[in-house]
Formats: sequence, C-alpha cells, structure tokens
Amino acid sequence: MNAPLLLIPLAIEWVILVTTLAPLILVGRFNNRPRTGIAIWFTTFLSAGAATAIAIGVSIWAYTDTVSALSRKPFGGEDWFVVLVVSFAPWLALAVGGVSLALINHKIEPLVETAKQVKPLLNLSKTPLQNFMGVTVSTVDLPFAYALATNREILISKFAVDHLSRDELDAVLWHEVCHVKEKHFAMKQLARLIRELSPALTASRALVGEVERLVEIAADMHALKKVTAPTLRLARKLFEV
Ligand SMILES: [Zn+2]
Repeated sequence: MNAPLLLIPLAIEWVILVTTLAPLILVGRFNNRPRTGIAIWFTTFLSAGAATAIAIGVSIWAYTDTVSALSRKPFGGEDWFVVLVVSFAPWLALAVGGVSLALINHKIEPLVETAKQVKPLLNLSKTPLQNFMGVTVSTVDLPFAYALATNREILISKFAVDHLSRDELDAVLWHEVCHVKEKHFAMKQLARLIRELSPALTASRALVGEVERLVEIAADMHALKKVTAPTLRLARKLFEV
C-alpha cells in the first residue's frame, strides 16, 4: 500500500487552523468554566500535535515507498528520476506548512495582544442594570460616555446612564441590542483577522472599514424603528467627543 499523501496537506491545514484560531477565540474565555477551558485548550493542542505526527509519519512512509521504488527502477533512468522528484513532495509540503505557520503566527501576535488589552476593560466590575430584549445590560464605572456590545451583553458606562434621558437610553439600547443579536462584534473580529492575515491587500483593509461602518448603519436603522431620529441624534451627541 502506498502512503496516503493526501493526509499531509489535510493535517497541515488542521494545524494551521487550530493554532491560528485558538489564540484568537480561546484567550480570555472560560473564566466561569475553568475546567472546561483547560480541557478544550489541551484537546486543541493534542489534536494539532496528532496532526503533526500524522504529517511526519506519512512523509516517512512515503520515503520508504520511494526507497523501495528506487531499488526496483534502473539507476539513473527516467522512471528513477520521476520517483526521486515525486518523493520530495511530502517534505516540500511540510516545509511550506512550517513556513506558513511561522508567518501566520507572526501576524496574529498583535491581535492577541490587543485582545489582552481589551479584556481588562470587559472585566471592569459590572453592575447589572436591566435585561433588554433578552440581553443583559450592565453598567461599568467609567467617567465618560461609553457603550459596548459584545457577542452576548451590553456594557454602558454609569456616566452615560446618568446623563441620558430615559428615551435616549432606550435609543442607545435599541442600537446596541442590534449589535448583539446580529453578532456584529464577531463580524468585526473576523474582518480584523482577515486583514491581519492579508495586510497587503487593499480589499482586506477596506473590508474592516466597511464592516465597521455598515454594522453602525444597521444598528441605527434598527433603533429608528423604535425611537425618533432626534432622540437618537441627541443620544449619540453624548458619545461624541
Ligand atoms: Zn454601534
């Protein structure tokens, strides 16, 4: 039986995927479920380790295939050269995989650093304010107007709550709840990831700007179904510095 060469690119893909996504998706999570978090981290890296072992194993298998094939061909013949050249393919794939991995890691480093800087902000002591359309709204103690919609909650600064009328606060919440329900935070993260991986492309830089702009328009349109335009404008004024 010949070595299943297709496993090599598949295994490399898996390693790249796992090591790229894990730092971005898993860092800073699981604060409430530490054991689950630890299990997921180790499973993730074990699977990447297994995939690496498979890629190397298949390459070695392919090497033994080559050696036995070469011994059957007349030395220096055309067939002999073909076998020799083909035998480099798995090792080339491994090398390319290794280089890609190094490049991607280099690119995502700043993203992970940014994520770490944002986390303390998210971990500011939160005081539950209300439940808005099924989404938890909490206040954070910041001395300026600030609102943030993550993938599952809305954070708004105490300052903003104190300085907005009830209608204006509703306008802000209708806007933010749209961000939460339509997963805008995740979309922005995905867009930034794409930009970090392909920074040379004008299109990937434009992607970030456009996604960030369009989600704001979508959220405003959502809010305007519930509140009047002047109210939304007044509420927005507080957040403009
Ligand atoms: Zn917004």
